[in-house]
Amino acid sequence: METRAYAVMAPTEGLKPWSFERRSVGSDDVQIAIEFSGVCHSDIHTARGEWGDLHFPCVPGHEIVGLVTHVGDSVTKFAVGQRVGVGVYVDSCRTCENCVAGMSNYCLEGMTGTYNAPERDGSGVTQGGYASSIVVDQGYVVSVPDGLDPAGTAPLLCAGITLYSPLKHWGAGPGVKVGIIGLGGLGHMGVKFAKALGAHVTVLSHTAGKKEDALAMGADEFLVTSDESVFVDHAKTFDLLINTVSAPIDLNLYLELLGLDGTLVMVGLSPDPYPIKAFSMLAQRRRIAGSMIGPVSELQEMLDFAGQHNILSDVEVIEASYLNEAWDRVVASDVRYRFVIDASTI
Ligand code: NAP
Ligand code: ZN
Repeated sequence: METRAYAVMAPTEGLKPWSFERRSVGSDDVQIAIEFSGVCHSDIHTARGEWGDLHFPCVPGHEIVGLVTHVGDSVTKFAVGQRVGVGVYVDSCRTCENCVAGMSNYCLEGMTGTYNAPERDGSGVTQGGYASSIVVDQGYVVSVPDGLDPAGTAPLLCAGITLYSPLKHWGAGPGVKVGIIGLGGLGHMGVKFAKALGAHVTVLSHTAGKKEDALAMGADEFLVTSDESVFVDHAKTFDLLINTVSAPIDLNLYLELLGLDGTLVMVGLSPDPYPIKAFSMLAQRRRIAGSMIGPVSELQEMLDFAGQHNILSDVEVIEASYLNEAWDRVVASDVRYRFVIDASTI
């Protein structure tokens, strides 16, 4: 099917309109008319070659919400007209230990990303959600609960799950002191989910002007990290810190904030390595961990939880022609708090 899209056509170029053919609907496939598509910082890291090679043309986008327009013969979970979502991956090996255990985001062969990833059948490279439509195997599609605004839901498909999964895994809840480092697309979802789970939530931001927003989202405290006394005054007081920052920061400073057996979870993906002092870790028996999105089953659980608590992303809906400017604003930490493309403008 002919699909309109915005693509990066060559290194150092911005996004441009492009058309291409999606695969025809196979027996297990769901065809989706995209309504809204979120802009994740990962799209920018990828398209600007910060994480390695890119297949051109590349249509980014892995925060997709739309309506089902066609289903294959074997599709049982979805029907035409239903509102659904697609997140960061669209396939996995399905046979490894992790896939069988329902953790296909950690597929031992590597999950197949929604864009810029070789298709497992060798048929080409995946193309993402900055597009008018997409065709995805039903096993990698989730349903959007009724009543959730579709534009505000799109960012849940990556930013939402990326914070929900570690918050659940490391037990965010009543009596647990959580710090969210960086109040961008991921960070603001972290505040909302941590709060809904009952944790005490502090935002650690390098932008003083985000304080009111953070408190309105439910944060209990807001600390500006350019003030070094923050790291002294709040030393050894956090149970769980989640670093969502897209650029390198001094992790040793943040580790000092963790109390006994506290954990710093890395979800932000600065391309540069971090120098870590052993002394910062052994005091208080601290841990550094990582977390990558979440499995499809948890993606559905997170959307259902969002439906029950009416948790949405704070979005700025844009026309596709604004995308290059939007990307520059994301890099400048000037997004409140997620750009979402109205796919009808592609
Ligand atoms: P974003 O909207 O740009 O948010 C990043 C935030 O980090 C900014 O809003 C800013 O918050 C802070 N920040 C940016 N530059 C900084 C600097 N130089 N020093 C200190 N703080 C800085 O990005 P995002 O879409 O949330 O993504 C965040 C990162 O997570 C990206 O690296 C992305 O690739 C990665 N990611 C990981 C996963 C995963 O599965 N682990 C999934 C999706 C994305 P303040 O203004 O509040 O300081
Ligand atoms: Zn993402």
